[in-house]
Parts: sequence; structure tokens; C-alpha cells
Amino acid sequence: MDIKKLNQIYEGKAKKVYATDSPDYYIVEYKDDATAFNGLKHGTITGKGIINNKMSNLMFQLLAKNGVKTHFVEQINDRETIVKAVKIVPLEIIIRNVAAGSFSKRYGVEEGRELLAPTLEFSLKDDALNDPLINDSHIIALGVATENELEQIRTLAYKVNEVLKNFFAGLGVKLIDFKIEAGRLPNGEIILADEISPDTCRFWDAKTNEKLDKDRFRRDMGGVEEAYQEIFSRINNA
Ligand code: UDP
Repeated sequence: MDIKKLNQIYEGKAKKVYATDSPDYYIVEYKDDATAFNGLKHGTITGKGIINNKMSNLMFQLLAKNGVKTHFVEQINDRETIVKAVKIVPLEIIIRNVAAGSFSKRYGVEEGRELLAPTLEFSLKDDALNDPLINDSHIIALGVATENELEQIRTLAYKVNEVLKNFFAGLGVKLIDFKIEAGRLPNGEIILADEISPDTCRFWDAKTNEKLDKDRFRRDMGGVEEAYQEIFSRINNA
């Protein structure tokens, strides 16, 4: 695709977003920067940007095959990808299959307990407020999304979970939980955006429960680069 990269329009914790010579497309660039605890912890995970770019794109293509509309258009190089220009709905859309992280803390549930059903949860994307938990009524009352958009988001989130859970089970990996983001196209349609990577998912080895995700960075467990590489090679060998 013949698209020219123009000015940077946004820099997040893990990615930069650039305008292009078409209003319909952005270019995202994945960085090696890692943060945790709402930016309190900073570091670098060498090679992470390359893995997250390639892995997200593979996941988006897998999801597209399964009927999920995503922002993915075309990978340009190791770190950069053309995506559809969307307005991000300011929600962290989280699905949990197994208790971990903030869910375990909040409800006093041991990490690793299987949940009786996949659980959907929303946080408002607002660093200044520390991304507070938000419910469906709040979302509608505050105009963060309409009821119709929420319905599209719920359907999208559960579908992504079904596809990814099955895919990773085939690689000997348990999908514990993950965060996705949704975007609005100019016509109002909601599609999957952002990324799907070890930064945004919890992956545990099915046999050993070894963590193969960003928790190794958050919790100073070591073997961070190796964990990202391990997930990525299992995907590539699938
Ligand atoms: N997550 C994320 N970005 C965030 C918060 C969470 O990608 O800002 C992901 C996280 O990697 C995990 C899931 O969402 O896969 C649930 O995270 P949780 O709410 O347990 O928060 P955490 O323990 O990461 O603070």
C-alpha cells in the first residue's frame, strides 16, 4: 500500500501513532519501552516492539478470519504497521478467564482460580484518575459510549476471547486475561484496535503455569525477553 508517514500525532507508553497522507490511515510504531503501575515503573524490554508488532498483526489476521473486524491493514516493517484511522473509545476492555492481578486483589481470590464464566470488565482510560473501574450505567451516563456501542463492544470482547483462548490452548498456553481497545470508524462502526501482545494479555504455560507475559516485568521475575520470545516462537511454529 502506498502510504506516506507524516507527523506524529500521539505517543503512548508503548507505541507512537503517525498521521499519513490519507485521512483513513495511521501508522503505528511499537517501542521497546515498558511501563507498569500507571507509569510508576519504567524500563526497556529489548526487542519487545518487534515481537508485539508482529504478534498483534498475526492475532488481528486470525481474528479477521474468524469474523472480527480490526484496524489492521498492513505491516510495513519490523516495528511499523498501517492501521485504519479510528477514534479510540476511552475504555480498557478486559476479559478474564482465570483470576489474577487486580481482580485477585480486589476480591481476595487466589491467582489461578478458574472463573465460572468469562468475565467482562471496563476501566475508564484516564491516567490522571488511575484508570478507574467503570460500569455499563456509568459509561452511558457519562457519554463514554452509547448502549448500542456497548453492545457491539461486549460481542467483540467475548468473540475475541473465544478465538484467542482456543488458539492459545493449541499452543499449550492458558489465556488468563487480556485487555483490548475498541475504535470508532468514521461511519460509527466499532472495530478492534490497539494491540494484542504479552503487554496486554496474561499467558501461562498450560503444564507448568509459568508466566509468559509482562507480569515478569511488573513483578521483577527476570526472563522477560525470553518469555516474549517463547510466546512468539510458539505462535510462529503453530
Ligand atoms: N492490562 C493492560 N493495560 C492496563 C491494565 C491491564 O493491558 O493498563 C491487561 C493486563 O496485562 C492483564 C489484564 O489487562 O492481561 C488485566 O489486568 P489487571 O486488571 O489484572 O491489572 P494489573 O494487574 O495488570 O494492574
